[in-house]
Amino acid sequence: MTATGTRVLVLNSGSSSVKYQLLDMHDTQSEGGSAAGRLAVGLVERIGEETSRLTHTPLATGGDKRETEGPIADHEAALKAVAAELSADGLGLDSPQLAAIGHRVVHGGLKFTEPTLIDDAVLQEIERLVPVAPLHNPANITGIRTARALRPDLPQVAVFDTAFHTTMPEYTARYAIDVETADAHRIRRYGFHGTSHAYVSRKTAALLGKDPSEVNVIVLHLGNGASASAVAGGRCVDTSMGLTPLEGLVMGTRSGDIDPAVTFHLKRVAGMSADEIDTLLNKKSGLIGLCGDNDMREIRRRIDEGDERAALAFDIYIHRLKKYIGAYSAVLGRVDAVAFTAGVGENAAPVREAAVAGLEEMGMAVDASLNAVRSDEPRLISPEYARVAVAVVPTDEELEIAQQTYALVSA
Ligand code: ADP
Repeated sequence: MTATGTRVLVLNSGSSSVKYQLLDMHDTQSEGGSAAGRLAVGLVERIGEETSRLTHTPLATGGDKRETEGPIADHEAALKAVAAELSADGLGLDSPQLAAIGHRVVHGGLKFTEPTLIDDAVLQEIERLVPVAPLHNPANITGIRTARALRPDLPQVAVFDTAFHTTMPEYTARYAIDVETADAHRIRRYGFHGTSHAYVSRKTAALLGKDPSEVNVIVLHLGNGASASAVAGGRCVDTSMGLTPLEGLVMGTRSGDIDPAVTFHLKRVAGMSADEIDTLLNKKSGLIGLCGDNDMREIRRRIDEGDERAALAFDIYIHRLKKYIGAYSAVLGRVDAVAFTAGVGENAAPVREAAVAGLEEMGMAVDASLNAVRSDEPRLISPEYARVAVAVVPTDEELEIAQQTYALVSA
């Protein structure tokens, strides 16, 4: 298939939100993927409520950010509102320059190892994965259906959060539970944030002046959701999220690793239902469960004021991070770089400092003045003598989705 246009609309549909970006791939390629190729970015929040909000920034025209508040009933109405905003800047969905729409899809199971052109059969397969991704895939499916209804003639591509992790060896991906039960219910480690881990591990190699095939990287994607991955020569060999995004690191509102028997205990002793336990572990745990705040800025502010609960939450967060750095160092054997990314990883210098503190014997250290620098560019924060490069590498999932989408439709 050959696309005529060079623009890609990236849609990230959540249960009550749609994030979008319109990119010009001609510009992003010529400028090495810089922001120059971004024509518009925006967000629809609180879909289905009275106070829905659309925030739209028309970067192409240099116009100001526009905010509209008022009820937006569903995803279809949201996408129509987005289309209207884009049209107002001459960037409408009917433009012949639009080559494709790229959709973020959280769970691709084992079947989808690559970005995939969406047809009815693909959509059905994504639906078949809803039981393993009940919190995420339904919203992604709604986004796809709505976009296809608006532009049935346009190629639409699904880019899966799980795809980068499908290279994990069987001994990494398989949980040590009864094989028949696991297989009957498709229970295994899938991993998430794959688009980010792929992008950041590649960028880290570039920062070191090497080809991805030459380097082993531990990527720490620390946003509100957080995950770690071990990437050997450009291929993921382990990652901290599992069947669902609940496993692994301490997150904003998720517990991460926990003794599974805690769930039986909550059911048998506390009388909680499966749904209540799900909500407890996904929405009321992690940093917010520990100290009442999930924003690292607020937690650091409280620590500076001597708040002990915030300090303990921080210590628990860091301890888990350290365990994963240690585990993945052992998995990789040789580590060339540790890369911090996403909201916390890119911005919270104290987190980076604390996570690497005491790891000098493992060749890892952080230089305080380099760590204090604020920048949107990939950068090293380790001292020259350190054997392992420690880096801050801003992630760009939308650009990665757009590039993968465009590569598929322009091939
Ligand atoms: P997600 O995409 O998972 O929603 P992000 O990657 O945008 O999350 O990260 C959001 C989190 O990043 C916030 O909850 C906050 O903890 C953290 N964060 C953002 N900016 C800063 C900052 N300047 N300093 C410390 N933490 C920050």
